[in-house]
Amino acid sequence: MQTEILKLNADSVEKAKNLLLNGEVVAIPTETVYGLGAIGLNPTAVKKIFEIKGRPSDNPLIAHVHEDYDLSKLVHIEKGYAKKLIKEFTPGPLTLVFYSKGVVCDEATCGGKTLAVRIPEHKGARQLLKAVNQPIVAPSANLSKHTSPVTANHVYNDLNGKVKLILDGGKCKGGIESTVLDCTGEVPRILRAGLITKEMIERVCGACEIAEHKDGDEVKSPGVKYTHYQPKCQTALFYESELESAKSLYNNYLSQGKVPYIMCQTAFDKEFKGYNILSLGESEYDMANNLYDKLLEGETKADIIIAVAFERYDGVYLGVMNRLKKSCGRL
Ligand code: AMP
Ligand code: MG
Repeated sequence: MQTEILKLNADSVEKAKNLLLNGEVVAIPTETVYGLGAIGLNPTAVKKIFEIKGRPSDNPLIAHVHEDYDLSKLVHIEKGYAKKLIKEFTPGPLTLVFYSKGVVCDEATCGGKTLAVRIPEHKGARQLLKAVNQPIVAPSANLSKHTSPVTANHVYNDLNGKVKLILDGGKCKGGIESTVLDCTGEVPRILRAGLITKEMIERVCGACEIAEHKDGDEVKSPGVKYTHYQPKCQTALFYESELESAKSLYNNYLSQGKVPYIMCQTAFDKEFKGYNILSLGESEYDMANNLYDKLLEGETKADIIIAVAFERYDGVYLGVMNRLKKSCGRL
């Protein structure tokens, strides 16, 4: 199969729409990462997503709709806090889990009782969703376990020959996947952390829990149990109290004639003068924005990416550290 990358415009959106309505999958930009989309009412098309990615069959997909689409066609929105969250944070990088009305097919929900829904903010994604006027289910547009793509080229590197069309909407500005929030209980519960933080949700709802992913949880996020986000080179992660270990691992690689890179925020620049650097920028938002881009750049030129980070879990750090730990195998 020939894979075409087209700049996002009215013509390419029309082409993507027709492919989707014909049961094909299309890679599309969003404000978080690139998604691999199919119409959520078409089981055959949805199955293609799992095949292309090599995604485990018990890991459900998020259904994306335009803000003009009536979410209550798809899910039961019962809790008052959920209505407030929709008003406050959508369109945006927040995914809400509700009991499903069964409109989106079982292949997408993996036969579960719940459906995760999101209204993206990205202009191109909105154009396509508006044109299609149906839910598009989409996981990240990478091969399962690999780092999620934030540019059309990243998608191409993983899915060349496996999809007909990649819509190129530039680099995703968020850089990590959406916050996934269980809205079936009395209190909203974060299943996967992201740019809409626990603190932001608490401000709107008064309370917000973080799922511990224990056996027996009624609503689970199967995705969190899998190995994830891993680049194709070796990785390691050290905290600010372990700088000497990071340096000695780096020097160890150098002495074997290998190419190590340090990946860190600019706050660590002084410590690593003269080292090969993959810079994550200054703030935690920069870090989210750069993380996958730098992991994917690193895998093309490094034998090992040695990440160095503050061990912080407040605000956006929670989501960033979750990705960083998984991509570097330090859990
Ligand atoms: P991805 O788009 O590849 O980041 O995967 C979507 C994420 O949302 C995974 O972590 C899924 O487990 C999670 N997810 C999707 N649908 C549901 C659902 N109905 N309940 C809980 N988590 C879900
Ligand atoms: Mg993914």
